[in-house]
Amino acid sequence: MIKYDVIIIGAGASGVFMSYEMTKLKNNAKVLMIEKGNALSERVCPIDGKKIKECISCKTCNIMNGYGGAGTLSDGKYNITTQFGGDLHRYLGEDMANELMYYVDEILCQMGGSDAKLYSTTNSNLKTVALRHDLHLLDAKVRHLGTDRNIKILSKIYDYIKDRIDMIFNAEVKDIQNLEKGFCVITENETYYCEDLVLATGRSGSKWISQICNKFGIETESNRVDIGVRVELPAAIFEHITSEVYESKIVYKTEKYNDMVRTFCMNPYGEVVTENTNGIITVNGHSYSDPKLRTENTNFALLVSNKFTEPFKDSNEYGESIARLSNMLGGGVLLQRFGDLVKGRRSSQRRMEKCFTRPTLKAVPGDLSLVIPKRQLDNIIEMIYALDKIAPGIANEDTLLYGVEVKFYNSKVEVNDDLQTNLKGMYVLGDGSGVTHSLSQASASGVYVGRILAEKYQ
Ligand SMILES: Cc1cc2nc3c(=O)[nH]c(=O)nc-3n(C[C@H](O)[C@H](O)[C@H](O)COP(=O)(O)OP(=O)(O)OC[C@H]3O[C@@H](n4cnc5c(N)ncnc54)[C@H](O)[C@@H]3O)c2cc1C
Repeated sequence: MIKYDVIIIGAGASGVFMSYEMTKLKNNAKVLMIEKGNALSERVCPIDGKKIKECISCKTCNIMNGYGGAGTLSDGKYNITTQFGGDLHRYLGEDMANELMYYVDEILCQMGGSDAKLYSTTNSNLKTVALRHDLHLLDAKVRHLGTDRNIKILSKIYDYIKDRIDMIFNAEVKDIQNLEKGFCVITENETYYCEDLVLATGRSGSKWISQICNKFGIETESNRVDIGVRVELPAAIFEHITSEVYESKIVYKTEKYNDMVRTFCMNPYGEVVTENTNGIITVNGHSYSDPKLRTENTNFALLVSNKFTEPFKDSNEYGESIARLSNMLGGGVLLQRFGDLVKGRRSSQRRMEKCFTRPTLKAVPGDLSLVIPKRQLDNIIEMIYALDKIAPGIANEDTLLYGVEVKFYNSKVEVNDDLQTNLKGMYVLGDGSGVTHSLSQASASGVYVGRILAEKYQ
């Protein structure tokens, strides 16, 4: 059995930033980070490389797994806010959560992110314009790194930590045993021992972490699931918004159901991509900072939040079932023109040929009303008409809707203010804890626990 003081499971944003902090601060801990996905240089999605057209369900999805986690091939938008992106402030307090997010931003800048502008919605005129139409723009600062710059920064962080932190890739942790003092961490080929164990397994590890919590009697609370579509339209329609605030989180309460719908993950001049979570194909988007890699379109998600009460608890299963329906009908992601959706007809190949907006993702034209429940679909249509008042053109019949976009949230794991479970020495970080849902907050949680353990091993 190979012995360490600290083992981090998962090399996503939270694991990497914890490693960064433990490298930076003086301490004697022997640290190992175990990651089931690939090292950075191996992380190529076959679709992105245009070698193939459709998701082939690789053994580990390069979009979701590997060094840097789900954030590596993302758009790299770091939102500094406690208004969305997680509840870290409820555990650490508002000031500490903000301070840590600014600290993460500082590191990103030192590692090559300083050329990327820090946008802010504070004092934006857009806020007032939106309010006049009952649309609510949330407060945030956002630094958009872009996928290309994001990868370079993660590579620099790797160089910084590699001599201090042992890292192994393509090694999935299968099980954990709780010893009288410390833990056994079991992968297919090896068993490790550590005194302090950090679970940083993100969204893709949600089922595994639930099993671990059940095994050790750690309480979890079912979280919400957000269901919706990815909207794609000519970038010019949102230019006045994206050029001012880049990412606008706009919330709207629908008249019909009083449900909340929000915009999410805006990618000016970006492209729509698929995402594979445990074999279920959903849609997402990203954009590059390099102008040569920009497309003519902007994309963003429109999401409706669903939280269930007794007797149904498995909100992720609800989201998965809806995504499975679209996978069944379209073999993956479905694509429909807004005009076809409101007219109650499917989008066909023939109709798509007449469409002025050119899709950036090859998806099967179809009918989203056969997949998304009426309530969510009505909410989305109402939101599109509401947004049309501040961005005229979005309700155009050639606006593209890809479905389904599902935001799965991990069940909230019961942790104390140090993000430690009731098992002494077992911490849960980032999205895997259900406490954070974003790059900034996940990274901040890593820095926080990194500081706690660096002090312990001084
Ligand atoms: C396409 C896409 C775009 C996104 N864009 C943005 C964005 O622009 N801004 C933003 O704020 N958020 C974005 N997000 C969300 C963001 O990526 C996450 O909030 C963030 O990555 C969470 O970090 P984490 O460390 O908690 O988990 P992750 O980044 O998911 O990392 C967890 C790691 O643990 C590994 N792992 C899981 N189980 C095991 C196991 N049993 N053994 C070993 N390793 C394991 C996984 O392979 C993974 O690499 C995006 C997500 C996706 C998928």
